[in-house]
Amino acid sequence: MRTIRMEEMTWPDIKAAMERGFRTAVVGVGSTEQHGPHLPTMTDARIGEEVAHLVALKLGDALQARTVDVGVSEHHLAFAGTLSVRPETLKMILRDYVDSLVRSGFKRVVFVPTHGGNFATVEQVIVEAREAHPGLEFTGYTDLLGLTGFLNQVSAEHGITAEESGAHAGENETSIMMALERDLVVPERFAPGYLGPLGEREVKVILESGMPTLSSSGVLGDPRQASAEKGRIYLERLADFLVEKVGKRAARR
Ligand SMILES: [Zn+2]
Repeated sequence: MRTIRMEEMTWPDIKAAMERGFRTAVVGVGSTEQHGPHLPTMTDARIGEEVAHLVALKLGDALQARTVDVGVSEHHLAFAGTLSVRPETLKMILRDYVDSLVRSGFKRVVFVPTHGGNFATVEQVIVEAREAHPGLEFTGYTDLLGLTGFLNQVSAEHGITAEESGAHAGENETSIMMALERDLVVPERFAPGYLGPLGEREVKVILESGMPTLSSSGVLGDPRQASAEKGRIYLERLADFLVEKVGKRAARR
């Protein structure tokens, strides 16, 4: 097969692939929002697209559905260019994705959320879809702190602290974007953002009062040690981690 991205395929080719056993659909769920002065607003959508693609390739029997590229980003609206949909809107979009994919004949849908604001909604949609379509499988990794914890572990292997690696436009996201969209990254503007503790309390402050409460530049972390080489490592490791997690979940059911 030349591609597993369904938007690059014709319907007869998609149908033929499904008949050969490609019955899983993988969907990235990103966002379009400020990512500091040095990364483009497409960052979470672009990362979602790539990670979902790698997950689909590693699963081996999966096609990739068009990435959802606008998410729940109200806490970033103070910054120009951010687009945000309400949680109810995202829920309706994802429900309709599920119904469309089921109608096509997919037996399993794997969601890959790559933006913090989307995790809770994705989890709700998965729970509902399981009830609405018994016998089919719906899964996705929706533990935000689990995901940042994993990324921090990979950072530590490269001598990067969790604070520098950061939860938003820090070292890890900047490295990944250097690997994927080198021309859209602005290294002259690399500067440390918020570097304090980031637990449930801080996340709550950001979600309720907006990102500027914690960081006026919109950065959580420090991009100065980012590199494209590390970006490729993050992508591979993240995809392996997610395949292991959704695989485990499937085995439990
Ligand atoms: Zn991001």
